[in-house]
Amino acid sequence: MLNRLYNILFANYGDLNWWPAETPFEVCIGAILTQNTNWKNVEKAINNMKIKGVLSPKEILNTDLNVLKDLIKPAGFYNQKAERLQIFCNFIMNQLNGDILNLKKYSIHEARDKLLSLKGVGKETADSILLYALDFKIFVVDAYTMRLFRRYGIGYFDNYDKCQDFVHKDFHGELYDYKNFHACIVEICKTYCKKKPLCNICLLKKYCKKVLE
Ligand code: SF4
Repeated sequence: MLNRLYNILFANYGDLNWWPAETPFEVCIGAILTQNTNWKNVEKAINNMKIKGVLSPKEILNTDLNVLKDLIKPAGFYNQKAERLQIFCNFIMNQLNGDILNLKKYSIHEARDKLLSLKGVGKETADSILLYALDFKIFVVDAYTMRLFRRYGIGYFDNYDKCQDFVHKDFHGELYDYKNFHACIVEICKTYCKKKPLCNICLLKKYCKKVLE
C-alpha cells in the first residue's frame, strides 16, 4: 500500500535530497531547532551560528547562553532551545567522545533510547537524527504523515508508535527510500494536503480517498 503511494510521489518529486545540511551534527541542530517552527526560520538560526563560528558541540558549550539564545532567536522558543542545544552537546562531549557519529556504535534501539533520554528530544526529533544524521533505517512520523495517511485512506493512527510500526511492516524500501518518502510526505502536505486541502489540483487526487474530517 505504502510503496504504491511512494512510487506516485517519487514519480512527481524525484529525489528531494533530504536532509538539507552540511554535516551530521548540523542535521541534529536542525532537528532540535525545527520543533514548532518552519524550516526557513531554522535556516536563519543556523546561518547565524555559522557566521559566528558556533556550529560544533565544543563551540556551542563555550558560548555564553545569552549569546546562543540571540543567535537562534529566528527559530523561536529560543530560551528552551538554547538549553536543549547545550544539553545535547554535553551528551555528545561526555558520552560520545565529542562526535555524534559515535552513536552508530550502538544498536538502533540503544541509540534511540539514549537520544530519548535527553530533555527536549522527543520521538520525531530522535528519529530524524537517527535517519538523517546517522543513517539508521527508521521512519520519521510527523503530523503531516498522520494527516496524509488518514486522508489518503491508508488508516487513522492515534499515536506515533502505531503509525511507525505500520510503516516498518508495510513499506519496503532502502535507507534512501525511508529518507525520501518522509521528504515527499512533507512536500505534498505543504503544497496540497494543507489543513485546508487543495484536492482539485493535488497530484494524488486520482488515487486518494479524501477522508476529510
Ligand atoms: S487529494 Fe486532497 S486529501 Fe488527498 S492528498 Fe491530495 S489534498 Fe490531501
